Amino acid sequence: MNDVKGYRGQLLHFTGEPKPTDKRSPTNKKDGDDHYVYHEDGVLLVSGSGHVVAADSAEALAAEGLDLTRCEHFPGHLIMPGMVDTHIHYPQTGVIASYGEQLIDWLNQYTFPEEQRFADLEFAASQAEQFLNLLMDHGTTTAMVYTTVHPQSTEAFFSAAQQRGARMIAGKVMMDRNAPPAFLDTPKSSELDCRQLIERWHGTDRLHYALTPRFAPTSTAEQLAVAGTLLREYEGLYLQTHISENKAEMAWVAELFPDARDYLDVYDRYGLLNERSVLGHGIYLNDRERQRLAETGARVAFCPTSNLFLGSGLLDRRALADAGVDVCLATDVGGGTSFSMLRTLSEAYKVMQLQHQSLHPLEALYWVTLGNARSLGLDHRIGNFAKGKEADFIVLDLNADALQGYRQSRAVTLSEKLFALMTLGDRHNVVQTYLMGHRQAGYQTVKGDAR
Ligand SMILES: [Zn+2]
Repeated sequence: MNDVKGYRGQLLHFTGEPKPTDKRSPTNKKDGDDHYVYHEDGVLLVSGSGHVVAADSAEALAAEGLDLTRCEHFPGHLIMPGMVDTHIHYPQTGVIASYGEQLIDWLNQYTFPEEQRFADLEFAASQAEQFLNLLMDHGTTTAMVYTTVHPQSTEAFFSAAQQRGARMIAGKVMMDRNAPPAFLDTPKSSELDCRQLIERWHGTDRLHYALTPRFAPTSTAEQLAVAGTLLREYEGLYLQTHISENKAEMAWVAELFPDARDYLDVYDRYGLLNERSVLGHGIYLNDRERQRLAETGARVAFCPTSNLFLGSGLLDRRALADAGVDVCLATDVGGGTSFSMLRTLSEAYKVMQLQHQSLHPLEALYWVTLGNARSLGLDHRIGNFAKGKEADFIVLDLNADALQGYRQSRAVTLSEKLFALMTLGDRHNVVQTYLMGHRQAGYQTVKGDAR
């Protein structure tokens, strides 16, 4: 037990999806469910191999003989599992916050020129490193990531993630039409590139491969068929793409695939839908598509900051949930405007409010940890502090600025505190991020009286 390390602070994690009895009132002292674990003074114990040994109250662990003075102490800070982002583009970091266009123009004007720079392995490597720093800085420890059409951009990303010991899902963009010619692959070249990348990286350390046709307009039927073949051939492969984000995009898809019943059917007919498929956006899905998503188990990634920024529309989460479709949450940087899953929750809450739907803070914090881990089929490894899980965790300062400090001082219940955190919080709340028990360098040190 000598190599076990302890981290002491307010401890929060989830064992299942919270179903708060009174969703309208985070001030209600009885949250009415047993799917979360919270210790005002708790300790997370992590083994030398980076796995959770225990997560309990300091009192209980001290009674079992734990020397609390040997724990790293974060008084007034919240320790929780690292957050999970289910849809993000690492090569778009440099074009985040680019002015004024909707989806198709935005792609042509900003994204495609930027992504072409990733043909250069050295540039890609530096960007991958910066991207991972930013994820850690914002408290995100696992992400499902788009690279570019160049295999070297994927290579650079996986190498950087491996070096850091991060659990990441990523894949080379497949794109063989409707983009600048220098920037296109072919069905054959994309198949060869994907095979090489899958064999090298899928299942290596903590890494997973995702087939990544960008979206229906930039892949021919032949290329989508290649993706379907590979998805069937390799066990445990993921698939990520976009769907029904924007009305002009949808009209374009209908033109390009006149035989398809609807947008989802384009992917369905090439065998791209299963429970490891994550489709970004899905704002304008019809009833049939929702039903088919539920049948296949494919997920929808809700990207509120992106949907608002690009003027795409409001996702109807309730309609998807009522149809039995799993909805995960994501930033979609660079269409999205923040790496922060806290900011993303805040915008998700507003998008849902506009549709008279609500998002209770306990559900919200579950969503960005265990919930998203479940959507990615990774909840047996990450997402909470169950014994044996990989110890990816973060330390949050609930009082990161004067306003938050004041608001927190007025909060009575846990839910109220968490709601203030998700509404006002961002990367400034994240003081430390750990991967498998290893502290990630380069972040602000713990402030105030915490050591
Ligand atoms: Zn996207």
